[in-house]
Amino acid sequence: MALFEKAPAKINLSLDVIGKRMDGFHEVEMIMATIDLADRVELNSLNEDRIEVSLWSRYVPNDERNLAYKAAKIFKKEYGIKKGVHIKIEKNIPVSAGLGGGSSNAAAVLRGLNKLWDVGVPLEELALLGLKIDADVPFCILGKTAIARGKGEILKRLPAPPSCWVILAKPNIGVSTKSILQRVNVDAISHPNTNEIIKGLYEGDFQHICKHIGNSLECITMSLYPEVKRIKEKMINAGAEGVLMSGSGPTVYGLVKHHNKAQRIYNSMKGFCHDVHIVRIIG
Ligand code: ATP
Repeated sequence: MALFEKAPAKINLSLDVIGKRMDGFHEVEMIMATIDLADRVELNSLNEDRIEVSLWSRYVPNDERNLAYKAAKIFKKEYGIKKGVHIKIEKNIPVSAGLGGGSSNAAAVLRGLNKLWDVGVPLEELALLGLKIDADVPFCILGKTAIARGKGEILKRLPAPPSCWVILAKPNIGVSTKSILQRVNVDAISHPNTNEIIKGLYEGDFQHICKHIGNSLECITMSLYPEVKRIKEKMINAGAEGVLMSGSGPTVYGLVKHHNKAQRIYNSMKGFCHDVHIVRIIG
């Protein structure tokens, strides 16, 4: 029997690195919103006890390094399952883009196997299991709009931003999150005003959200990859109401209230940029 799970991407409305923990991880505060750009994950149970991953991508391995593979391995071990699974991934989310594609694939596998093998694990428990794979997996289990604190595992649901359009623009480079995080100096980076974004979300105030979105990692990525800064400037000049780099980059997104304007900005970013999408936030 085949089971399908949608694995949507996310954008960061905020990303703040608050400190470095004793265990070596960063203490973070991130408001993330799910968008309707998604990979498609298909799971087929195998009688033999093995994990297979198939996907067509130059940039993503299909062996035990794949986050979807890791998710299946952890799930099987945690719940003592001796069956196997074939995981087929149809990739639509750009890779190493700051859009959480790998984490979303892993979350889809955890959710999917929970159903496929009828294990009945509560979502909160799945989210904690997901943290062993990557800091963004717990959020991807919960989905929609939420704030993640701690290492990424302390989650609180937030209202989605008011209806708007999101233009994604990614240059033809991939950014390693690890290499950006290694350069973080908590005292030197800028810190977004997370509470103001939360206020804007509760009040449904689009302009207030646009004004306060912020990302501590933006300066670091931009200093290494000046094209990210150029894309941000281009998106601001084109008239997007809020513009920010997502995750550790290099994708820059623009928030726009009205479709006509969003379409115009999308057109002007095309040709300037390698990968451009126009999407919506999922409630
Ligand atoms: P984040 O915002 O969580 O840092 P990202 O969007 O920047 O994530 P991903 O697309 O998740 O980055 O990929 C990061 C790395 O993970 C790449 O080196 C990629 O090869 C590897 N990877 C492993 N499994 C997957 C997967 N299923 N999908 C995408 N990338 C994967």
